[in-house]
Amino acid sequence: MSNEVNSRKVAVIGTGFVGSSSAVALMESGLFSEMVLIDADKNRAEGEVLDISHGLPFARPMKIIAGDYDDIVDAAIIVVTAGAGQKPGETRLDLVKKNVKIFQSIIPEIAKRDCKGILVIVANPVDILTYVAKKLSGFPENRVFGSGTTLDSARLKYLLGEHLGVDARSVHAWIIGEHGDSEIAAWSSANVSGVPISDFCEMRGFLEHDDHMKRIAEDVKNSAYEIIEKKKATYYGVAMAVRRICEAIVRDEKSILPVSSIQHGNYGISDVSLSMPAIVGKNGIEKLIPIQLDEKEQEELRTSARALKEVLDGLDL
Ligand code: NAD
Repeated sequence: MSNEVNSRKVAVIGTGFVGSSSAVALMESGLFSEMVLIDADKNRAEGEVLDISHGLPFARPMKIIAGDYDDIVDAAIIVVTAGAGQKPGETRLDLVKKNVKIFQSIIPEIAKRDCKGILVIVANPVDILTYVAKKLSGFPENRVFGSGTTLDSARLKYLLGEHLGVDARSVHAWIIGEHGDSEIAAWSSANVSGVPISDFCEMRGFLEHDDHMKRIAEDVKNSAYEIIEKKKATYYGVAMAVRRICEAIVRDEKSILPVSSIQHGNYGISDVSLSMPAIVGKNGIEKLIPIQLDEKEQEELRTSARALKEVLDGLDL
């Protein structure tokens, strides 16, 4: 199979909760005409293919197969969700050793076929695994990035929308840094359709702005723990984030999304992958957007980077 990219083809590696939910979201999106699902458990992938394909008459025609790495050489996007999930009480960083090992079996398979598509890393800890995927693949950095805090930023927008009684899509607010415990809500740039968030809170009659924002940021940070406690895993929200990222790539939207990529000096951070808003289009990441952060946020971001760097330093790559 030629490795010339087919812009209508997507691959999903790992068809557990996150991979299969992402596959459903991608099938429903109508963005692709071909989708390949790969899982170490081939039966699982085959079962998902059957189940998802039975929904096609209600959506748009496409070819969905359970395949292997030879089948994804020309995929425009390869979404990697394979990996263990967090157990109740386990942090994303606790997962690192198990999932790096899994990546050591997956990424070289993609690299040796010289795939030209974009790798979108979703498995956790996503920032560490994005860095690992970049190193193992040798792909250019624009073509390897993680879903990062796309999900966390959506959670933030959702909660702010509920709190303020506005459409979450009118809320512009980022979670940046690690997708995990050291993530940062970038309040100094948050706004609702151009109105600074603190002014908007006052307009809606909320005067204890700082307390509310603190609580909402904590709720965002803890939402994965809460969902895992209640239903064992989180998958629908991230599936929509995967769909959104794929949409920005396939439609060359040049959307600004908070994805995880290797940093090169912004805020004094380099050689670590974490989330910053970036322009995403058909070539993957086109440019990082170093948003305005106050001193405290910048320091928190550097702390987040140090926490990730410590984990990377402990890996034998
Ligand atoms: P899961 O256990 O349901 O699925 C994992 C799948 O990976 C399984 O089907 C397994 O067979 C497969 N797999 C394991 N090793 C493989 C290999 N070498 N090749 C191919 N497939 C392999 O887990 P899940 O709930 O789907 O979670 C998957 C990952 O996504 C976890 O790391 C989880 O923490 C992460 N996640 C990320 C986000 C995010 O925002 N980035 C959100 C939720 C979950």
